[in-house]
Amino acid sequence: MLPLSLKAPAGAPLSVLAIGAHPDDIEIGAGGLLLGLAESELQARYVVLTGTAERHQEARNAAYAFMPGADLAIDLYDLPEGRLPAAWGSVKEILEDTARSCAPDVILAPSPDDAHQDHRTIAEIVPTVFRDQLCLAYEIPKWDGDIGRPSVYVPLPVSTAHRKLELLHKCFPSQRGRDWWDDEVFLGLARLRGMECRARYAEAFTCTKSVIVPAAFARANAQEKDLP
Ligand SMILES: [Zn+2]
Repeated sequence: MLPLSLKAPAGAPLSVLAIGAHPDDIEIGAGGLLLGLAESELQARYVVLTGTAERHQEARNAAYAFMPGADLAIDLYDLPEGRLPAAWGSVKEILEDTARSCAPDVILAPSPDDAHQDHRTIAEIVPTVFRDQLCLAYEIPKWDGDIGRPSVYVPLPVSTAHRKLELLHKCFPSQRGRDWWDDEVFLGLARLRGMECRARYAEAFTCTKSVIVPAAFARANAQEKDLP
């Protein structure tokens, strides 16, 4: 299959906005993709809506670990965990503030089909605030069993899949005791998604709208933009 590549715009690094309801969401859902993007020049904004001081420290450490060398801005908020639907206005305000101060090429956010109410609230608001970006919704395995049918796959080199696991354990020690926090869950899902895209491991996303442009049109569109 011909892969679509995430190419940086001319003259600037690729810019990514990663949004999570809770510390560790972004890394579980898109940690492998972030590790890959950070191998090239990367501008990243990392936003987490809930969390205690301890969990915020974990999120901060993880952002730097998963995006080493990136030009990174981190915004951590302490909205009430598990109750983001009731904080809808605050979530919207935070995302609107974020949109006013950055114009990312790519947004990584939870999925509107996610069974967790906090994830879903963010997912519902993202497209009302950001209307000119490629939005990829990541997936998070959970008790609710909401694993869906993704539309976009990011094959992960084996070394990256293992590095993701290593960093998840290292960056989020507070989560180690949870019965779902283990290598088999993370690597099992990555193996399944890998099988679905003919790779060993992969992360999977859903994308509800994307734009593809033949090279000739890209040139023509750029020239038309320059016209008075
Ligand atoms: Zn979460």
